[in-house]
Amino acid sequence: MSPSTTGTDPDVLLQDVIDRNPGEPEFHQAVREVLAPLGPVLEARPEFAKARVLERLVEPERQVIFRVPWVDDAGDVHVQRAMRVGFNSALGPYKGGMRFNPAVTLGTIKFLGFEQVFKNALTGLAIGGGKGGADFDPKGRSDEEVMRFCQSLMTELYRHIGPDQDVPAGDAGVAAREIGFLFGQYKRITGTYAAGTLTGKGTGWGGAQVRTEATGYGLVYFVREMLAARYEDLDGRTVVVSGAGNVSIFAIEKAQALGARVVGVSDSSGAVHDPDGIDLDLVKAIKLQERGRLAEYAERRGGEATFDEGATPWSIPCEIALPCATQNELDAKDAKRLVKNGVTLVAEGANMPCTDDAVAVFQDADGVAYAPGKASNAGGVAVSAFEMEQNASRNGWTFENTDERLQTTMGQIHELCRRTAAEHDHEDDYVAGANIAGFLRVADAMLAQGVV
Ligand code: NDP
Repeated sequence: MSPSTTGTDPDVLLQDVIDRNPGEPEFHQAVREVLAPLGPVLEARPEFAKARVLERLVEPERQVIFRVPWVDDAGDVHVQRAMRVGFNSALGPYKGGMRFNPAVTLGTIKFLGFEQVFKNALTGLAIGGGKGGADFDPKGRSDEEVMRFCQSLMTELYRHIGPDQDVPAGDAGVAAREIGFLFGQYKRITGTYAAGTLTGKGTGWGGAQVRTEATGYGLVYFVREMLAARYEDLDGRTVVVSGAGNVSIFAIEKAQALGARVVGVSDSSGAVHDPDGIDLDLVKAIKLQERGRLAEYAERRGGEATFDEGATPWSIPCEIALPCATQNELDAKDAKRLVKNGVTLVAEGANMPCTDDAVAVFQDADGVAYAPGKASNAGGVAVSAFEMEQNASRNGWTFENTDERLQTTMGQIHELCRRTAAEHDHEDDYVAGANIAGFLRVADAMLAQGVV
């Protein structure tokens, strides 16, 4: 880090980050969003600049990159690249998911890890931020191939993780099946049943109730709080959700349970518009059981349901939009169309699904509330932290108790974002509220722990 960096000027620091981390535009984007509202905060608290807290925050504490060779069912050898980034441990052990997707690069994992630091801080739980992944594509692979890949990955990763060190979980492309294979290999290599090393485990062997549903349910609980702040509720609202994976499916389930009418859903092959309301059992059958394409939905559903090949769902008119697929999936053009079609609330289920320009459109539009993923999708990691708590005490909570604690946590995050925004002259701005509140929690802990 250049000694000329002032430590109080976020623009100077951002340029430094761009220069020092070339070719990682998603990481730059994530840093830009966090730094944007921090100028006045840093001026009011000069001790942060003196201790170079920001400069330390944007540099991961550690990054591990390794080769993962594996053999497919035909006997051919493949070589994948995997990585794990421990971004910040001021508040607890590194915590964050593993992503399996052919597009994964170090820049992707660093953006996700950086987001995770502030998200985890917002939960108020004792978890630091980390993330990992591999450029492996589980699509179309047999269970045996996925198992061999997971076992090979864990054969290196095991030495870097543990309940008090780094606790991976699932993310896109990594769910119960993968966590099972990863945990089995960890157990075999270490000879210990350290359940708290991985979260997202099966509920029959150390997994928390509600973990599968947590991110989607938590998102809708957050939306409910946003609506309540405007004296509104979900009943009868028209909702469009992108993605048809873990987050989207359980967001749809909870939104429907609370009376919303979900009319749009998508996957990487295109978007479904179903004016009669999405048949979630059919989506679950196609996506979770058959691991198929949403293209089949319209055919099997009949009625007025249509499938638009290669499209996003953002041209479907709705009051509430929940982007739950992937980063930068919703751009300024989509945002303008949503606003024109009457959207009044946008909450991110995915990590950074809206481009910077799209966020600006929502924030400039009259009467549109917008919540960034680090606040609205924090339910998944919150229940992961509950899982760690249960593993440490060898205890298990009921579904109802866990769901209640999830609702409480999402309510607290919502309240913290709003209160922090108001205290810093950013009334009703969830982006500023989330970033300032997350930053203050981590930065205060870093100050207390000295220059490490
Ligand atoms: P999944 O892999 O279960 O589902 C992702 C869905 O998004 C799939 O339906 C996929 O389509 C679709 N999708 C992926 N890429 C694209 C694209 N470029 N265009 C359109 N659709 C796409 O992932 P999750 O639901 O677990 O995660 C989704 C997002 O939520 C990610 O950003 C993740 O980081 C974030 N998140 C996840 C948490 C969790 O607990 N799982 C916690 C917090 C955030 P297809 O089915 O065709 O592959």
